[in-house]
Amino acid sequence: MSKTALLSVSDKTGLVPFAKALVEQHGYRLLSTGGTAKLLESEGIPVTEVSDYTGFPEMMEGRVKTLHPKIHGGLLARRDKEDHMTAASEHGIDMIDLVVVNLYPFEETVAKPDVTFELAIENIDIGGPSMLRSAAKNHASVSVVVDVADYDRVLSAMDDTAALSKLRRELALKVFQRTSAYDGAIAKYLGEQTQEEPSLGDISGIPAELDVQLPQAKVLRYGENPHQQAALYGSFFDCFEQLQGKELSFNNIIDITAATYLIGEFQKPTVAILKHTNPCGVASAENLVTAWEQAFATDQQAPFGGIIVANQTIDTDLAEIIAKIFCEVIIAPDFTDAAREVFAKKKNLRLMTVKDSLPADSLREVRSVVGGILMQDRDTMPDRPSDWKVVTKRQPTDEEMRAMVFGWNVVKHVKSNAIVYAGCEHTIGVGAGQMSRVDSSKIAVWKAGEAGLSLNGSVVCSDAFFPFADGLIAAAEAGAVAAIQPGGSVRDEEVIAAADERDMAMIFTGKRHFKH
Ligand code: 5GP
Repeated sequence: MSKTALLSVSDKTGLVPFAKALVEQHGYRLLSTGGTAKLLESEGIPVTEVSDYTGFPEMMEGRVKTLHPKIHGGLLARRDKEDHMTAASEHGIDMIDLVVVNLYPFEETVAKPDVTFELAIENIDIGGPSMLRSAAKNHASVSVVVDVADYDRVLSAMDDTAALSKLRRELALKVFQRTSAYDGAIAKYLGEQTQEEPSLGDISGIPAELDVQLPQAKVLRYGENPHQQAALYGSFFDCFEQLQGKELSFNNIIDITAATYLIGEFQKPTVAILKHTNPCGVASAENLVTAWEQAFATDQQAPFGGIIVANQTIDTDLAEIIAKIFCEVIIAPDFTDAAREVFAKKKNLRLMTVKDSLPADSLREVRSVVGGILMQDRDTMPDRPSDWKVVTKRQPTDEEMRAMVFGWNVVKHVKSNAIVYAGCEHTIGVGAGQMSRVDSSKIAVWKAGEAGLSLNGSVVCSDAFFPFADGLIAAAEAGAVAAIQPGGSVRDEEVIAAADERDMAMIFTGKRHFKH
């Protein structure tokens, strides 16, 4: 019995010679839909219209053409199962051995500047993907061609059983790649047409193989900028309680996260002021008011619109001082009632209390990259000063050591390249996010100058090694008397020599803290 091929294509390129070869060289009977059948007939190629075969006309403006059990039965029937074959013959279903389908041009249609919503919807192909999927599922017995470029390969493999079987699996894979991209384009278009209702609550864009169990999304007003949709997943709001103020923004949530992780480094009363995730100033002291004064002294300009975090209850003394400054969010384990009254006058200010323990998920970090996501452990492994090595002739004094322990805990929360100048448990200058370590250092020195602070007797903390001696020499010239850095550069010897020449003490921690 002759084999049957079903041809139904929007892009008719290369179809005629392919169909001719099927009929004339391989003895195929052809089934085809309206437009495709017309073309083949006009070329004198014998073809049966699908509607004649099924006994059902194409209807509803082409929405229903091939959606019929005589088509899908012929594609899906397992040839090796008797009951499948009996069912087929009872219902007059012929086996279809080859399907050639390319889809309504949805992507091209929506790319046109003047496309209407109605036209886009009409260009969603339904029967085409259905046939492709049926045939691809049953690729053990059916060849399925979705790409015009595969016509010749199919013809050449036709008489070679092993080659054909291998090719069929490859073609089936191509089908699912094509149909998922097609559905993705439709979802994207519909998402764009539904601007006010962000579609991120639906997590269809997350590849199943990542096996990430995403909880319910909280749709945010917008993302980093007002034209970006955004949603929050996970238990963020179980970790914090918002006592007052405007709804948290996407950027607030990122900053609160950075602030929470930074403050987690410190046991003594500590205050940190952050802006765009970077610390502007941090200090530990006997009480929060003193800590605040020292943290704020580092930079009195950048905290405008920033985030303040403390690791103890904020009382009225501190509240009265902070309330004079415009900031977006204040985070603390608690606020006294009187402090809350002070802040209550500032209706927009967000006050957050933080719960004791963070969920285990907080040990993971996720970033988006081209075509996927990256996941890593958070940089939480503790730094133990007992593992550190003094590499210079001079040992650090107790005071320098305290400054370095403090500064090292701060610098790992600063965007790379990160340089922090610290005094005994307070920052003096912070240089963040520069492409060169020397530039970060210069910025830290300049900022300390702007704040009217002296770097004489300070320590310099670097999140990664000094690749050359120049960065360390510049720090020494700025007034630093000790340095802490991971070490590990090929030029470590030069850097150590430069430190020794200047009677500096230097520690190698053996661990770097890049933060990209
Ligand atoms: P033709 O030009 O042959 O009339 O139509 C070919 C196109 O119709 C192909 O792109 C094919 O994917 C699509 N098609 C085939 N069957 C159906 C159907 O039942 N419903 C819809 N909406 N499209 C179909």
